[in-house]
Amino acid sequence: MSAHALHMQRALELAKLQAGRTGQNPSVGCVIIDRNGQRLSEAATGDGGRPHAEQLALANIPVGSAVGGTAYVTLEPCRQRSTDEASCSQRLVDAGLAHVFIATRDPHPLGSGGMTRLREAGIEIDLGILREDADQLYADFFASVASETP
Ligand SMILES: [Zn+2]
Repeated sequence: MSAHALHMQRALELAKLQAGRTGQNPSVGCVIIDRNGQRLSEAATGDGGRPHAEQLALANIPVGSAVGGTAYVTLEPCRQRSTDEASCSQRLVDAGLAHVFIATRDPHPLGSGGMTRLREAGIEIDLGILREDADQLYADFFASVASETP
């Protein structure tokens, strides 16, 4: 398994540990690696669905330490929040990450489009690493989104 897959596997592990405790929100895992390949931080979605995993992972590290680094996220980082908080895609851009690996896309209207936003900010995106595992983890979430969205 490649180093990238190992980091994503860890992110999935974190997400699975929180599964069932995040309310309506999917349980997401996030691992952040600095530009030298050192693990800086990791997190999963908080109890009840907040904070989001990326938000928690980025909150734990010194400002500037993730510049040029890589994030591994099990689900597409949100484009927009239902509250007026900054979205995860915005936070990843602000942290200066160079590369984001995403296991699978978010079909939710507020989540979807985060990938485009990251790409527009010049971040390199890699979609689909360990996607099958992620799709399995989010099967119920995907089904609930599909039933809500006309
Ligand atoms: Zn988010």
